[in-house]
Amino acid sequence: MENEEKLEQIKVASLDEILGKKFPVLDDGFVRVVDYMGTDESIVQAARVSYGKGTKKVTEDRGLIRYLLRNRHTTPFEMCEIKLHVRVPMDAWRQWIRHRTANVNEYSTRYSLAIDSSQRTSDSEWRMQSKDNKQGSEGFFPVEIGGKLTEREQEFQNFAREIYQERLNLGVAREQARKDLPLSTYTEAYWKIDLHNLLNFLALRMDAHAQFEIRSYATTIGNEIVSRWCPVAWEAFKDYRMNSMELTSMEVEVMKKMLAGKQEETLAAAEKFGWLRKVDGKLAGNRERIEFEEKLTRLGLVAPWK
Ligand SMILES: Cc1cc2nc3c(=O)[nH]c(=O)nc-3n(C[C@H](O)[C@H](O)[C@H](O)COP(=O)(O)OP(=O)(O)OC[C@H]3O[C@@H](n4cnc5c(N)ncnc54)[C@H](O)[C@@H]3O)c2cc1C
Repeated sequence: MENEEKLEQIKVASLDEILGKKFPVLDDGFVRVVDYMGTDESIVQAARVSYGKGTKKVTEDRGLIRYLLRNRHTTPFEMCEIKLHVRVPMDAWRQWIRHRTANVNEYSTRYSLAIDSSQRTSDSEWRMQSKDNKQGSEGFFPVEIGGKLTEREQEFQNFAREIYQERLNLGVAREQARKDLPLSTYTEAYWKIDLHNLLNFLALRMDAHAQFEIRSYATTIGNEIVSRWCPVAWEAFKDYRMNSMELTSMEVEVMKKMLAGKQEETLAAAEKFGWLRKVDGKLAGNRERIEFEEKLTRLGLVAPWK
């Protein structure tokens, strides 16, 4: 057919260079790219089907990708897919697997022996429970205490492994012998996801509120892999999502008064939203207020009630 458009498979030289290369994460984990489909160009190619070739001059490729991401036009980003091979401790994997929009094949400890490796915590890496955030941590234990925790961790992991091995030696089925292996045991999986949902994963898991362990994986995937695979989309993601900030209507109201220098009105608005409730003379914990204070800190501002 004369007018048929010639197509070639899209290749990304910078990603081909690292295909199969293991990027180390934690003490014995890794992430590596097994396969991929598409790149920035594919996002543009798909978007132009909906917008028509007429828009080509107005919106150059980079501008178009940035416009699409800024305005949450998601489907063109779903035209890119990536398949990763990951090695992750089971506690982090338990969080990871909650992202339902990926296709997964995990190493089977019914079928094979459990991977003989558990994630270890060095003596300087033991985190203390956060006081404000029940889900989080803040600060580290001194190494004298950390050293003891590490020693006990090692003892426990060795003991759990010993019992597992003992059961296998006796002929206990692998599917049952594994039941007391700790969550620190590494598992491996093939994980395939499209760019739109991968960016959602990265926004949630690179965020400071995500647990350090899964954050380490997400950061490696973002900085080492997506940055090479779809550099323009990656840059737009950082500009418009990762490093951007959303303000709620309450925050806008308080901030307007704050920036206008209206101290009393600012406090009155915060009071109206229940942010300044006190218990025993001290400001009570209030998640919305704390989140707002974090945003102000990012902007180099301080709330007047502080
Ligand atoms: C910091 C943090 C703390 C968390 N704490 C907890 C916790 O305490 N307990 C807990 O159980 N989970 C917790 N989670 C997990 C969280 O609630 C999500 O399950 C997880 O992050 C997956 O996000 P997702 O649904 O956006 O991703 P995906 O499953 O990949 O879905 C992507 C998007 O697809 C859409 N989608 C997918 N499936 C459906 C569906 N069935 N119906 C409608 N829309 C769908 C949604 O728009 C969704 O945002 C936490 C996550 C984070 C990041």
